[in-house]
Amino acid sequence: MDAKCPKCSNIAFMDDQLAIIKCTHCGFKSTYDEYIGIMKEIAATLSYDYIPNNTSYNKD
Ligand SMILES: [Zn+2]
Repeated sequence: MDAKCPKCSNIAFMDDQLAIIKCTHCGFKSTYDEYIGIMKEIAATLSYDYIPNNTSYNKD
């Protein structure tokens, strides 16, 4: 199962058995519970910080 890396925004991989999220791009690794908590924090942060003319979000 794929997951979005909270650190570098690349595709991270979720180990379904161990419930571990791993990113091969930046080395991010966490448990699924930690990952969910981090993603909630990021979602909350982005809803405040997201500005349409912030080009770092538009170059993908
Ligand atoms: Zn990453």
